[in-house]
Amino acid sequence: MAYQLNEKLSRLQPYVPVAETAGIIHLDANESFLNLPETLRQKISEAVAQTSYHRYPDPYAVELCKAFAAYYHVKENHITAGNGSDELISLLISNFLMKGETVVTTDPDFSMYTFYPALAETNCVEICKGNNFSISSEDLICKVQELHARMLLFSNPCNPTSLGLTKQQILQIVKNVDALVVVDEAYMDFWDLSQSVLGEEENYDNLIVLKTCSKVGAAAIRLGFAVSNEKLTGILHAVKSPYNVNTLTQKIGSLFLQAQDVLRSRTKAIQISRDALQNGVEAVLQRHPGAFQLYRSCTNFVILRLPRADALHTYLMAHGISVRLFPGFLRVTAGSETENAAFLSTLEAYLEEEN
Ligand SMILES: *Cc1c(COP(=O)(O)O)cnc(C)c1O
Repeated sequence: MAYQLNEKLSRLQPYVPVAETAGIIHLDANESFLNLPETLRQKISEAVAQTSYHRYPDPYAVELCKAFAAYYHVKENHITAGNGSDELISLLISNFLMKGETVVTTDPDFSMYTFYPALAETNCVEICKGNNFSISSEDLICKVQELHARMLLFSNPCNPTSLGLTKQQILQIVKNVDALVVVDEAYMDFWDLSQSVLGEEENYDNLIVLKTCSKVGAAAIRLGFAVSNEKLTGILHAVKSPYNVNTLTQKIGSLFLQAQDVLRSRTKAIQISRDALQNGVEAVLQRHPGAFQLYRSCTNFVILRLPRADALHTYLMAHGISVRLFPGFLRVTAGSETENAAFLSTLEAYLEEEN
């Protein structure tokens, strides 16, 4: 007898998540640098203590979806909760594409957009972003139509470029393609909610918006949402596994999303940290003109483009600071004041040593 793994599994490049390491400053996973406030954690403890552990979770997470709907001003029957938006991306790829059909995404973009299509044996075409990481809605429309793609999937604002397309540009895409458009708004809260297409799902039969609690302070509970019209939501409810979001996550997520003031103040704190980091990096750049290229971020991280990104990455790591390395650039999550200061002084030290 001989058993061999199939081709796709033999070829699989596992996604290697960053592990939390004691004593290291983690600016590598776009998490919030603040834990939830003590009062909210206390409330959560009390709610968790009431759990009926012998019962299955609510399959449609009704309370949770209500809290999400209230915070983001969308309709309750437009929401599907997921075990992180990762689960929802996987569900969309494996159900809204038939074998051999094409999904279009952009490059660079969130790595999961190419990971799941490879497993689902669907075609995935990445459209390269141009100089300065720019991409136009016209380019996206042309490519999707030309390839007869069934889905267009991208993040807006984009991880990892930190740049965003406007609401008007997104809607232009939605209106002009014969494909399902999935817009992942994981970082929209840090930009400008008036650029969000949340609420527009009502008007289109081909729009799904993804959201996550991971970047605004609740990465631990694994909770994401898909927002789409009633028909698409019905399909998503039908294809998901019945109890995909566990009871504890539903309870904690509801309390988190109901704590609207906390959410708003946390979002604000992250924006302030991002601006401080951006300004700090800009000041370093002024002292070392041409050392790297910097982009104006509308997310919770900043991007530094430089030919020897790997050398800087290694140097930072050797000094206890972990950032995310991409080919030719680094992604640095906005941290606490101390963490940002540690990053900035190490960056400066590297540039001084280099010269
Ligand atoms: C971090 C991130 C997510 C995360 O989703 P989870 O809800 O944590 O699974 C989704 N999309 C993008 C673009 C991200 O950067």
